[in-house]
Amino acid sequence: MRKQIAAANWKMNLTWTQGKRLLEDILGGGVSVKSHQQVVFGVPSPYIPLADEIVRTKDRYAISAQNCYEKKSGAYTGEIAAEMLQSIGIKYCIVGHSERREYFNESNQVLAEKLNRCLENGIVPIFCCGEPLSIREAGTQNSHVETQLKESLFHLSPDQLKSVVIAYEPIWAIGTGKTASTEQAQEMHACVRTVLADKYSPAVADDISILYGGSVKANNAKELFSCPDVDGGLVGGASLVAADFLTIIQSLK
Ligand code: PEP
Repeated sequence: MRKQIAAANWKMNLTWTQGKRLLEDILGGGVSVKSHQQVVFGVPSPYIPLADEIVRTKDRYAISAQNCYEKKSGAYTGEIAAEMLQSIGIKYCIVGHSERREYFNESNQVLAEKLNRCLENGIVPIFCCGEPLSIREAGTQNSHVETQLKESLFHLSPDQLKSVVIAYEPIWAIGTGKTASTEQAQEMHACVRTVLADKYSPAVADDISILYGGSVKANNAKELFSCPDVDGGLVGGASLVAADFLTIIQSLK
């Protein structure tokens, strides 16, 4: 079975006291995470080593960065290199979140470089793709997402691709309380898998975890995750509430 993943994206929220408490409440929540499941916390950069200390000894829990820079190293004040994450044992990094694409003008080409930096350093990128409302309304969401995949991922070898987690996040559903229907989610996830199968192979495509993101909540996670091509979720708002995120973890297949 493909890895089923509950990934939290805290974004720029919480003090460390609040974040530590949240992690402790989730880890102490008595939920058993099965061997084919993984829980990932995308925490703000200053908290990465502190949070990692808390989850390090727990099987099936890991810390993720929310971003990294596309260059290897150098005079880029304020940026974080993938090699730095690797040097402190961090295994995941969110790449290409729609907020990064929108507010920081991250293009598909820049994201291709970020993926390269992650993979060179043994970091699993959680690569985000997804369409804005205007594209959904025009009905061209499949080709929009296909272009994102082609321009950022298609230079990777099959083995490299197998180390990538994809998160389909329709932008109109992020932080809006509007969730894609299970039909919309399944349709796009199947489309992503077909695009990967055509470029690589059905076997490679079948191995890739594809997460859904966009207003995943405690009360809709089970239904969304039950779709055959949905392998868990990337969760913003609901990941900030221990009880809600625990329910979301329990909703994994
Ligand atoms: C996200 O941050 O990627 C996200 C999907 O946020 P929310 O769950 O709040 O919509």
